[in-house]
Amino acid sequence: MPISTPATIRLPLDIPQVDVLATKQTQDGKFLITVESRQETTKCGVCQKEIACNYGRGQAVRLRHLPILGQETYIVIRPRRAQCPTCLYQPTTTQTLKWYDQRSPHTKAYDQHLLKQLIGSTVADVSLKENLGYDAVVGALARQVDDKVKWDEIQNLGTIGIDEVAAQKGHKNYRAIVTARQDDGTVLILAVLKDRKKKR
Ligand SMILES: [Zn+2]
Repeated sequence: MPISTPATIRLPLDIPQVDVLATKQTQDGKFLITVESRQETTKCGVCQKEIACNYGRGQAVRLRHLPILGQETYIVIRPRRAQCPTCLYQPTTTQTLKWYDQRSPHTKAYDQHLLKQLIGSTVADVSLKENLGYDAVVGALARQVDDKVKWDEIQNLGTIGIDEVAAQKGHKNYRAIVTARQDDGTVLILAVLKDRKKKR
């Protein structure tokens, strides 16, 4: 092999139930990973019954994902579509998958990554470091708000941290990110609480 050919590696992709169709790196270094879903069914948007995905594919969507070797990484997918055989007017539905929300430009893993970046930092800092719009960082924060702590996911509480992040530029409304640092050093996000007003 020529000396200039870089060594390559193969890694498992951390997304469940997909096949990788192609991977490429753009001239500016970004990784694009094209995948398709292995899941054959989805829930009808009207009757909620599980129906077969037999109605082709939608437009390709590009979702920001966790970085590979420090480079921006995107998952590209054309979501499968389904038509309900039993509902009136046979409505069509786009397949929903666990690892991303249809209205989000990020995978859920990337949203979690952003939240961890926000700990001890500001939205503007994370926006700059991730080369992402301010609103995209706030969007990730907003999608994770659930007002409830997921106690059942915690093995041990370790050190609990609460970080406040300004939810909007120039506003006095804050989101609080509640985290637990486990004994093995991993940081779990327990909850994102919304719109706390800072006391003076
Ligand atoms: Zn239906």
